[in-house]
Amino acid sequence: MKTIESPTYYFATRKYDLSFPRLAEDIDADVVVIGAGFSGINTALELAEQGITNIVVLEAKYLGFGGTGRNGGQVMAGIGHDLNKVKKHVGPQGLETLFKISNLGAGIIAERVKRYDIDADLCRGYGYLAYNERQAKTLRTFEKEFKAVDPNEDIELLTGKDVRKVIGSPVYTAALKHMGGGHVHSLNLLLGEAKALTSYGARIFEHSPVVEVTYGDRVTVRTPGGTVRAAKMLWACDSFLANLEPYIYKKTINTYAYQLMTEPLPDALIEQISPIRGAFSDISPIINYFRVTRENRLLFGSATRLIEYTPSDIESWNRKLMLRVFPYLDKVKIDLAWGGPMACSANLFPQIGSLPEHKNVFYVQGYSGFGVTPSHIVCKVLAEGMSEGSARYDLMSSIPHMDIIAKDRMRNVWMTLGKTWNQASGYWTGRR
Ligand SMILES: Cc1cc2nc3c(=O)[nH]c(=O)nc-3n(C[C@H](O)[C@H](O)[C@H](O)COP(=O)(O)OP(=O)(O)OC[C@H]3O[C@@H](n4cnc5c(N)ncnc54)[C@H](O)[C@@H]3O)c2cc1C
Repeated sequence: MKTIESPTYYFATRKYDLSFPRLAEDIDADVVVIGAGFSGINTALELAEQGITNIVVLEAKYLGFGGTGRNGGQVMAGIGHDLNKVKKHVGPQGLETLFKISNLGAGIIAERVKRYDIDADLCRGYGYLAYNERQAKTLRTFEKEFKAVDPNEDIELLTGKDVRKVIGSPVYTAALKHMGGGHVHSLNLLLGEAKALTSYGARIFEHSPVVEVTYGDRVTVRTPGGTVRAAKMLWACDSFLANLEPYIYKKTINTYAYQLMTEPLPDALIEQISPIRGAFSDISPIINYFRVTRENRLLFGSATRLIEYTPSDIESWNRKLMLRVFPYLDKVKIDLAWGGPMACSANLFPQIGSLPEHKNVFYVQGYSGFGVTPSHIVCKVLAEGMSEGSARYDLMSSIPHMDIIAKDRMRNVWMTLGKTWNQASGYWTGRR
């Protein structure tokens, strides 16, 4: 049976031999960051680029242990699943600002890769997929929204036979090809970013779980081997927070996604799967997502539709879904399968801010399954808030986060209710 510790495609193909010591003394810093996924490392890197370099990052396990080392590597456009869900909080002007910043993520990743020479297989080419006419209509709206922000956006709606120009599957009626999106080896990206962070003098400690925090003008963060005292701190633990800070823990709830990796496939088969060698997802309330890798493998993932459970055999659970999309892959061998949790917010929008009683304690979480690109945007904005402050930090942190009050297993019941609502409302939101 595959477990949370099962190996992933990313660890099997990591290019950076990077490891960091345990914290074994008491030290001081300007900023202490808890959690070394995209959120923690990116915020720290943004701060370091601004000249704030006395930073300590504490990671309970190892870099990429969380969602950052398990995801599909999809570089999708935007932040949150539907910006209209936050419109009532930010108003039409705020929404316009969010639209403008929401597509910066892929550019930030590309700029990072170039600036720090990161070997992360960054590829262009994304396709949003529709199973029926209702979803195809939604894709037409997406196309208009993209073009309204940037008329030169390389985006094209394909229907009928043309769908096969990007994706070799009989199940889709339309595809919105977006060459601004694509895919990336997320662990190598994270490790490259961490290496860049240390080049500024920031310190990273692995296998150093934070077990206690004392707030105040200077925050004291305790791990089994030592403490860090710092003027500012950031919670960046996403789905692994485990109630260490109840104020933010109750604002998200975990769901799981699972995925598989095929054996390396012949060039002709990859050409049939995707002539553009892209990444894809449908636009249903619970998506199937997949992409090809540099080694000609197919990564295919999804999540449970209504009830939250971990399949006893992740590989065959995912394989069934994969064969519905690509029936001709029935003889292909599956080399790995894995899964992992992700923190979801009620409005599916990532959360940033500071604790009401402790303005020097910041947090970021709740990407709701869509964090690779968004974390690069959101953490840029968060770092602005943690240093000089900015209008866009004020805007994003002003969006209220609903509390999801439930304990232990009852949290799964909420998740099922949320998924049921999303599935049902999909009929009138054009997602089903
Ligand atoms: C299976 C799966 C597939 C996904 N696919 C995609 C995708 O294709 N595209 C996309 O955009 N998004 C995807 N996501 C979501 C995306 O990966 C996440 O939103 C993103 O990586 C979250 O980054 P993070 O840094 O906030 O959290 P994480 O990467 O989870 O990092 C949090 C870190 O905090 C550490 N931590 C927790 N508690 C402590 C403590 N007490 N002390 C010290 N450290 C602690 C954890 O060990 C962990 O390393 C997927 C997620 C999963 C699980």
